[in-house]
Amino acid sequence: MNENELRSEMVRITKRLDEQGLNRGTSGNLSARFGEGLLITPSGMGAEGLTEDDIVFVHMDGAAHGRWQPSSEWLFHRDILKQRADAGAVVHTHSVSATALACLRRDIPPFHYMIALMGGDNIRCAQYATFGTQELSNNALNALRDRKACLLANHGMIAAGKDLAEAFRIAVEVETLSEMYLRALQAGEPVLLSAKEFQDAQNRFSGYGKAVESKQTGAE
Ligand SMILES: [Zn+2]
Repeated sequence: MNENELRSEMVRITKRLDEQGLNRGTSGNLSARFGEGLLITPSGMGAEGLTEDDIVFVHMDGAAHGRWQPSSEWLFHRDILKQRADAGAVVHTHSVSATALACLRRDIPPFHYMIALMGGDNIRCAQYATFGTQELSNNALNALRDRKACLLANHGMIAAGKDLAEAFRIAVEVETLSEMYLRALQAGEPVLLSAKEFQDAQNRFSGYGKAVESKQTGAE
């Protein structure tokens, strides 16, 4: 993807996050690795009216180039893309269900086999730190260890993917799993998958390999 295509894709995914209700107003942001840095959505701007020219380029050293300031969360976007070679894009949302769980400051356990798509047997909740700080970025990277997603205590969630399309799908999946887990918690104490049951699901996903990856669904 060249720069213009990537900028268009970022605008398109920002609008889809808004349409799906994962982001509302000006909350949430996304980024994609590009050249010697990353392209990222601007600070304080929502999906409405966002254009390709509003996207900001941030060099890996932190220097920003664009007509606007980069998202106030540019630090964790930069740090994830810098330190995780497997990540090409990052989506951050304040989606309601994931954020509700993040306010309980609890990890999402293996209550459903789709958790296996996140890289391991849970979705961790990063320790709380003020938004926009290096401390928050450090906490997020820690919670993302061997995972494609994490919750941010009293804040929201982060999804990382090899590209924007994958990061978007993971964000939607995290929100869906969060909603299911919250509902199950309301009705009682969810039964968790055993280590073997979870491992079997993981094996099945890896067995499907690329077919599963491209369709991005483990649902039958
Ligand atoms: Zn945020």
